[in-house]
Amino acid sequence: MQKSPVLELLRPELAGVEPYSTPQGAHPIRLDANEAPALLSARARARLAEVAAGTAWERYPSSQATDLRALAGARAGVAPEQVLLGVGSDELITMLLTALSRPRAGLDVPVILTTTPTFVMYRMSARVRGQRVIEVPLDESWDLSMSAMLAALGTVEPSLLFVASPNNPTGNRMSLDRLESLIEAAPRSLVVVDEAYIDYSGSDQRSLLSHPNVVILRTLSKIGFAALRVGWLVGPEPLVRELDKVRLPYNLPTLSQRLGALVLGELSDELDRTIEQVLTERRRVMAVLSELSEVSVTPSDANFLWVKGARPAEEVFQRLSSAGILVRSFHRYGGRLARQIRVTIGMPSENDAFLEAYRALS
Ligand SMILES: *Cc1c(COP(=O)(O)O)cnc(C)c1O
Repeated sequence: MQKSPVLELLRPELAGVEPYSTPQGAHPIRLDANEAPALLSARARARLAEVAAGTAWERYPSSQATDLRALAGARAGVAPEQVLLGVGSDELITMLLTALSRPRAGLDVPVILTTTPTFVMYRMSARVRGQRVIEVPLDESWDLSMSAMLAALGTVEPSLLFVASPNNPTGNRMSLDRLESLIEAAPRSLVVVDEAYIDYSGSDQRSLLSHPNVVILRTLSKIGFAALRVGWLVGPEPLVRELDKVRLPYNLPTLSQRLGALVLGELSDELDRTIEQVLTERRRVMAVLSELSEVSVTPSDANFLWVKGARPAEEVFQRLSSAGILVRSFHRYGGRLARQIRVTIGMPSENDAFLEAYRALS
């Protein structure tokens, strides 16, 4: 087939990017995506179906999503005016990158600063927009390396600084005092603190919102409702108002709004129960893994564990996969990730299956 001339119009950066894809194949046990286990009660399922059935299918969704915004704000302890809703936090990341895309004086493109390893969407979404990404390695405890961060800030002033805390894939929170120092060291940059896993951390970082250059990202995806694609950003009202101009008019589908509001309101005890059970299982799995020789597990503030074993991660991944268990391996990145896997805390039976298979290979 003839090569289409429009391909020449593509952004050159796209050539170096792969579409986001998830592993295919039949794995009965999927502990690879940090989803919550299926712990929803029958009563909650029935309520979700009932509310879904009342949808006005011919109507566009509400553009303001007032109910859901108020509930999301209440969960973060802020007014609805400080909340921006997105189709998952992924969409909020793209809105931030789009809105804050004026290059600084003397630069031809905006610069994004983040850590490594961390959530890939900061890098991916910035790159497909032609923005420059600087990734600063975390220290040996997977915490912020202040010397490396300050050195990077000495060479270039980023527009956006993305920090996941708790971090994915390492599971730990960044030290609050280091986060504070970072925020103060970059007063003209917007620091995005991604709290996708904060419900599993037993602490909160809300105090960071007192800085005018901070926004926080939250999501329903890791606490039982990945299917809804509901995320929210909390930040200073004047900034939220500007970011809202970048949002597509009907970004959040009616079902996500209505069911999201049900979950954060009437069914919030279901969230609490899921979080509690995951924490109980996390303690149990952690304790078993810690008994194994040559295995070390990073203390986790999230619903997954960051596990270092004696064998190459690729081999561990393959052998677990043959046993029908999917985890995440980061062997492609090499270096200090070569023996690391990330395993999501699942149902007790799934965790048992993982532990048994993992034990057999270590
Ligand atoms: C999973 C994850 C997200 C994705 O959130 P969605 O709301 O599903 O888009 C965001 N940030 C981090 C750090 C994650 O691990």
